[in-house]
Amino acid sequence: MIAVQNLCRRYGEVVAVDDISFAVPAGEIFAFLGPNGAGKSTTIKILTTLLRPTAGTVRVNGHDVVTEPDKVRRSFGIVFQDPSLDSELTAWENMEIHGVLYDVPRKQRRERIERLLTLVELWDRKDSRVLTFSGGMRRRLEIARGLLHHPKIIFLDEPTLGLDPQTRNQMWNYLRELNRAEGTTVFFSTHYMDEAERIAARIAIIDHGRIVALGTASELKQQTGGASLEDAFLALTGKHIREETAGGADMMRAFMRGQMKR
Ligand code: ADP
Repeated sequence: MIAVQNLCRRYGEVVAVDDISFAVPAGEIFAFLGPNGAGKSTTIKILTTLLRPTAGTVRVNGHDVVTEPDKVRRSFGIVFQDPSLDSELTAWENMEIHGVLYDVPRKQRRERIERLLTLVELWDRKDSRVLTFSGGMRRRLEIARGLLHHPKIIFLDEPTLGLDPQTRNQMWNYLRELNRAEGTTVFFSTHYMDEAERIAARIAIIDHGRIVALGTASELKQQTGGASLEDAFLALTGKHIREETAGGADMMRAFMRGQMKR
């Protein structure tokens, strides 16, 4: 469903994504786990055609993101960190507009809006304006909206950021239910390790724009000898990579001091 080969993305001098390759089969729940600034959002933006790659190829649902962006766009739904709902409109109206934009036929639109709003427990609030909704309700409405046109894949960029634990849990229950009921492929980024471990079939750990590990949570733990995913993550990102970098800088400083003394 997703095939990424040697993907690179630069912003001027900054290498945000540094030669990553991975594939996600249809129906999988896949997590992109990494610290802030690792390159998660940049990758999701490329997968969703919002940003062009500097190099490499990306295919989503069999279509190339650069040469066939429209076909790619029809294959996925997306939930961003920043809500993009119209808060002046009701829940129903937000859904309806999205359905019209994506050419979902009227009858199917009605049925799906009811089904999805019921699924995210907002059906009884369908006629309330979004500005009266809590953060958790808005996120749930975004998820329902992202699924309205029956996408094969749903992308979620840090979908639970700023939500309380109970709402986070609920949200994942809906997504898992959808994945089970409709076989929707779920690709999400997070910096919550517990979330990745509990929800995803496989996890890619990304740091400094590179994939440093990819596998099931137990494979990642085995690979590093860590008891928890947290240990694995520290071993893969925190300890190894960062300390070496810091070590390099320290050595450089010591060298410079030595030079100055002479
Ligand atoms: P994440 O989503 O994992 O937090 P991002 O993909 O947002 O990481 O960022 C990866 C790197 O690219 C960071 O070093 C970030 O500062 C840089 N970056 C992201 N967006 C831009 C931009 N528009 N211009 C310049 N640098 C950027």
